[in-house]
Amino acid sequence: KNKYGYQTEFLQAVEEVFSTLVPVFEQHPEYIEQNILSRIVEPDRIITFRVTWQDDQNRVHVNRGYRVQFNNVVGPYKGGLRFHPTVNESIMKFLAFEQIFKNALTGLPIGGAKGGSDFDPKGKSDAEIMRFCQAFMTELYRHIGPDVDVPAGDIGVGAREIGYLWGQYKRIKAMHEAGVLTGKQPGYGGSLVRKEATGYGLIYFVEEMLKDANDTLSGKTVVVSGSGNVAIYAIEKAQHLGAKVVACSDSNGYVYDPDGIDLNVVKEIKEVKGERIKKYVEYRPNATYTEGCTGIWTIPCDIALPCATQNEIDGESAKILIANGVKVVAEGANMPSTPEAINEYLANGVLFGPAKAANAGGVATSALEMAQNSSRTYWSFEKVDEKLRDIMRNIYRTSKECAEKYGAPGNLMVGANVAGFVKVADGMIAEGVY
Ligand code: NDP
Repeated sequence: KNKYGYQTEFLQAVEEVFSTLVPVFEQHPEYIEQNILSRIVEPDRIITFRVTWQDDQNRVHVNRGYRVQFNNVVGPYKGGLRFHPTVNESIMKFLAFEQIFKNALTGLPIGGAKGGSDFDPKGKSDAEIMRFCQAFMTELYRHIGPDVDVPAGDIGVGAREIGYLWGQYKRIKAMHEAGVLTGKQPGYGGSLVRKEATGYGLIYFVEEMLKDANDTLSGKTVVVSGSGNVAIYAIEKAQHLGAKVVACSDSNGYVYDPDGIDLNVVKEIKEVKGERIKKYVEYRPNATYTEGCTGIWTIPCDIALPCATQNEIDGESAKILIANGVKVVAEGANMPSTPEAINEYLANGVLFGPAKAANAGGVATSALEMAQNSSRTYWSFEKVDEKLRDIMRNIYRTSKECAEKYGAPGNLMVGANVAGFVKVADGMIAEGVY
C-alpha cells in the first residue's frame, strides 16, 4: 500500500482477491512459507513506450503505450489492449492482475497480461486509427509472440484495430504468426464466435446461476450498461433466451425502451455508424434518453448486467437496484462494482456473478482461436459456441464447488478468486523460486 497507494484501481483489485483468501491459507500454509502473496502482486515486467503518430492534417501526436506481462505460470501472457484516455499504469495493472485468475479459471493454458494506450479513438478518422495502430505495434512487436504474449481487444479495440495491428506485426516480422493476436476477423485467422463470446458467455453463466435457483431467463427484465462489444452480444443472447432487455448506455447517457431494446437499431448506431446511443430515440419514439450514466441503475429490473467499465455501480446504485427487486447482478465489464456495491449484493441475497468468472468467455474463446491458429484449421460456429457454453458451465461449477470447499457456499466471488489463485499459486511453487 505504501509503494502503490496512488494506484487505486490496482489496490482495489488486489484487496478484492486477498480479502477472500484467508481460508485458503489455513488449508495451505505452504503459500505463506513461499511468500506467494508478495510474489503474485509484482508483475513479471511492465513495458511502457512512446507512440508517435500523425493525424490527417499531418500534425504529430504522442501517446503512451503499455504492456503489463503479469504472470505466465499457466501459459503465455494473454489479455486485451485498451485504447481510452483514462488508461494509466494503475488501470493496466488492475486489469492484468484480474486476468491472471480469470485465465486460470477457464482451464485453458493462458497466463495474465493487459496493455493499451491513453489514445482516444473517439472522433478519429479510419486512417488516423490505422496510423496509430501501426505506430503502437512498431514498438509492441518485439515484446509479443504466439508462445510469448498474445494480445486481444478491449475497450476501444475491436476487429478493425486488431486487423491494423496484425497487419503491421506481419509486415515487420515477415512471418505469418497468426496466433500472436486474437480477435482477428474470421477469414483471416479469426475464430467464429469470438466477437460474440464475452456477451454470450456472460448469459450462459447467468443461465447456470438461475438454473441452480430453479429459474430461467425467460420473461426476465434486464438492464445492460454499455453498448459496445460485450453489451451488444449480451443483449442478443439474453433476447434469444426470452428475456426483455429494457435499457443500455454509452459514456454520455442511457436509453430506456419500455417495449424492449431493438438490437438492430443499437447495432446500426454503434457498429455501423459509430454514433452516440442518444440517436436511438430517433428510431424508437417510445424510448427515452437520459444524460449521465449512473441513472441507468434506477430502472427496475430482475437482472443487472454492467458491461461498460470499472466502478460503474457504487454502493448507492446497488441499494437502489436492490430496493427495486434485482435478483441477479452479473459482471460483463471488469470490476464494474465497487467494494461497497458487492457488500450490498452479498448482504441482501442478490445472486452475484463476479467478472473473473462471468466475463471469462471472451478470453476462453481467444484461447480457442489460438488453438485453431496452431492447428491451421477453422471450427464451425456451432462447435465454438458449444465449447464456449461448456467452458462457462465449468467455470460456474468450479467457482461454486470451490466456494463450498472453502466455507463460503453460494459466494461465487470467493469461489472464483480461490479457484484461480490456488491454480496459479501451485504452479508458482512447482516452478521454483525465481
Ligand atoms: P467497447 O469499447 O466495445 O465498449 C465499451 C462500452 O462502454 C461503450 O458503450 C462505451 O461508451 C462504454 N464506456 C466506456 N468507458 C466508459 C466510461 N468511463 N463510463 C461509461 N461508459 C463507458 O468495450 P468492450 O465492450 O470490449 O468492453 C467493455 C467492458 O468489458 C470493459 O470493462 C472490458 O474490460 C470488459 N471485457 C471485455 C471483453 C471483450 O472481449 N471485449 C472481455 C472481458 C471483459 P462510449 O462508446 O461512449 O465510449
